[in-house]
Amino acid sequence: TYVVTDNCINCKFTDCVEVCPVDCFYEGENTLVIHPDECIDCGVCEPECPADAIRPDTDAGMEPWVELNQKYAELW
Ligand code: SF4
Repeated sequence: TYVVTDNCINCKFTDCVEVCPVDCFYEGENTLVIHPDECIDCGVCEPECPADAIRPDTDAGMEPWVELNQKYAELW
């Protein structure tokens, strides 16, 4: 699963949403979020993000972002 991180805050681009083959981006509190149960781990969104905000959840220090992406994605 990929997660959206703090570089997404105030970003107005939605390139990631447009390329995601499974439409698993949702609005979070002040970032977009990726639904962890819907993301198929394809990686297509990561290089498309102009703010460099999308990371694999396996990167170091991603735990808080994993929780936030899950929390806000599940509100939808
Ligand atoms: Fe969508 Fe693929 Fe990015 Fe997951 S890794 S959010 S499926 S584009």
